[in-house]
Amino acid sequence: MTARVTELVLTSEVPGAEPCPFCGSSDLDFGATSDDSECWVECENCGTQGPYATVGCGDEDEDEVDLEADAVALWNERVPAVRDRH
Ligand SMILES: [Zn+2]
Repeated sequence: MTARVTELVLTSEVPGAEPCPFCGSSDLDFGATSDDSECWVECENCGTQGPYATVGCGDEDEDEVDLEADAVALWNERVPAVRDRH
């Protein structure tokens, strides 16, 4: 079986994220500040950036994966809020 793929291969996409609420594209990626203190989901098609997830409580050992999960959750929370306005 060759189905087992490392998670690193998925960095050009954002697992679990809803399509862009503005253009409908699923071409999403993670953005992050240079010091990795903030992370967000952004649309590669129209450039929309989701809410920023930040490292809380000054915990320098915060797992970056958790930050990305927070960014996805924030992105997904935003999607229905935008759609309801239409
Ligand atoms: Zn978009």
